Amino acid sequence: FKQYVENLITKSKVKWNDIGGLEEVKMLMMETVVISALQRPESIQPWKGILLFGPPGTGKTLLASAAAGSLNATFFSVKASNVLSKYFGESTKIISALYEVAREKAPSIVFMDEIDALTTRRSGDQSEASRRMLSTLLTELDGFQDKKSDILVLTLAATNTPWDLDEAVLSRFPRRIYVPLPDEKATKEIIKINTRGLDISRLDLDAIAEESVRRLYSGRDLKNLCQEAIWHMIREENRDLHKLAELPYEKLRRRSLKTRPLEMR
Ligand code: ATP
Repeated sequence: FKQYVENLITKSKVKWNDIGGLEEVKMLMMETVVISALQRPESIQPWKGILLFGPPGTGKTLLASAAAGSLNATFFSVKASNVLSKYFGESTKIISALYEVAREKAPSIVFMDEIDALTTRRSGDQSEASRRMLSTLLTELDGFQDKKSDILVLTLAATNTPWDLDEAVLSRFPRRIYVPLPDEKATKEIIKINTRGLDISRLDLDAIAEESVRRLYSGRDLKNLCQEAIWHMIREENRDLHKLAELPYEKLRRRSLKTRPLEMR
């Protein structure tokens, strides 16, 4: 199990300025993660868990990765559904091993994606394996900090469906951060980040941003759009990215914007 867990460690190369928009979210993350971890007065316990929630592709993984990078922390990236499908009956051992290694290699950040895959609320169809995995996770979240308070292991959990989380989970994540779809300003920043080093001077970024926001594009959609435009540019041996404005937006999935800020922060 330890071997499996070691493979979950990724080297974080993401910097805060690789993330477009999300100014407020980045500030909150920096304050919560960096300041409370490094400069907190002794009387304050560091946060153990932060919940990032919002529509898919809005940068939750990027934020967790940037937080790990800025702390120089060991970064474990875990998808709950992967652990369950791979180690069905033994997912609890994976979780225990995960936190054991995270403590050994502290400071650590455990990024637990799709935490909703483990919870009960959805309809009572939760499997025994996911129930046990969740209960081990909650025990880990409760437990270790008391044993040795100078070991920092921070769990960042992410979900697109916060309404699926039950009280047992929510109560372990008192700090909850909404990661929204990009507005026009953020959209322009994300396009610039994803076209670094390329000539975008002929692009009407305002028009592209307006259209993208109207279509509820996420950061991931924008990245895909940029990639597509770069391919056109290479294929046509062009020097600029004029196709970005002409790309078949329709091909990208239109989303229904279900995830709203809720009363969650
Ligand atoms: P999911 O909920 O589907 O797991 P997510 O919210 O974790 O998605 P990420 O994996 O962080 O989203 O983002 C996917 C990709 O989209 C990133 O690798 C990045 O290239 C791009 N992206 C998303 N948001 C931003 C952003 N704010 N700034 C720059 N790039 C972004």
